[in-house]
Amino acid sequence: MGRIFNFSAGPAMLPVDVLKEAADEMLDYKGTGMSVMEMSHRSKAYESIIQEAEKDLRDLLNIPDNYKVLFLQGGASQQFAMIPMNLMKNKVADYIITGLWAKKAYQEASVYGKANIIASSADKNFSYIPDCSDLPISEDADYVHICENNTIYGTKFKTLPNTKGKTLVADVSSCFLSEPMDVTKYGVIYGGVQKNIGPAGVVIVIIREDLITEDTLPGTPTMLKYKIHADSASLYNTPPAYGIYMCGKVFKWLKKQGGLEAIKIKNEKKAAILYDYLDQSKLFKGTVEKKDRSLMNVPFVTGNADLDAKFVKEAKEAGLENLKGHRTVGGMRASIYNAMPEEGVQKLVEFMKEFEARNL
Ligand SMILES: *Cc1c(COP(=O)(O)O)cnc(C)c1O
Repeated sequence: MGRIFNFSAGPAMLPVDVLKEAADEMLDYKGTGMSVMEMSHRSKAYESIIQEAEKDLRDLLNIPDNYKVLFLQGGASQQFAMIPMNLMKNKVADYIITGLWAKKAYQEASVYGKANIIASSADKNFSYIPDCSDLPISEDADYVHICENNTIYGTKFKTLPNTKGKTLVADVSSCFLSEPMDVTKYGVIYGGVQKNIGPAGVVIVIIREDLITEDTLPGTPTMLKYKIHADSASLYNTPPAYGIYMCGKVFKWLKKQGGLEAIKIKNEKKAAILYDYLDQSKLFKGTVEKKDRSLMNVPFVTGNADLDAKFVKEAKEAGLENLKGHRTVGGMRASIYNAMPEEGVQKLVEFMKEFEARNL
């Protein structure tokens, strides 16, 4: 059997070229006689792997010199705690609640200080992004936190909130490297890589240098201090070495695709194929306000749970897998990250048309 089209929200598809290259290097990485999995993280060979990965990421995102790039473990979820532990000097932070991940980040911050909800789209099951142009930002807030792309609900911030001068912190797990971003607008950008960049086990943190201090909350474990990792260039302890190597390959693949401007055009084209069909379908309906639609995660429903289940089952038989929606939205969700080829989205839409004709 060949490869299927995997529409999972994460872990998700990786580019075939990247997987093939890794397979070729599996037993003997560039004449070292060993796999990257077996290699010391202090070796010359590994040093160049991690340094090149960082350099390529800096090139892709145009990361200014006053930002550090950290490759850490614990997933995006660990950042939910690490951020307040390192940034909550006044023990106050503002959170915008646009979905389940945003809420989890907020709940974790509440353990360490006063976390305020300054906007929310919970009233309509997170199907839109609230107006964030004039929010009641707390005067003593250490930062304002957003989840930029809401993986479960399929919404994305198209304009960043007006933080009134406060540091912006963003979870970009499910839109990381899907389009260019202006790093200078943020204090911290973080994301688990298993959605759009690499294998699970790595979280990337891009953090402005002045936010990295010794002054963390009392009791902060050594491993959860940004300064420890920044001072040792992500090699304080053994990093998720193989995962970082795979991320590095994806960075090179992205450069070969023409960088983030080019990948954005491809992503817009793929998403339009699906959204255009949804907008005229008599059976399927998108669940998100049009202006806030994500390019990466596309939830849709028929309005009939039995029919939804039938669709997911038959789609799987047609080689289109993991289309079941999150239980809080129901229906279906197609995650179409960078590595999903346009052909996969076309196949999905063809299948939807055919299913619609049979079931309307
Ligand atoms: C998947 C996801 C997370 C959780 O990531 P882990 O790496 O599993 O902790 C957090 N935020 C967003 C937006 C996600 O999509």
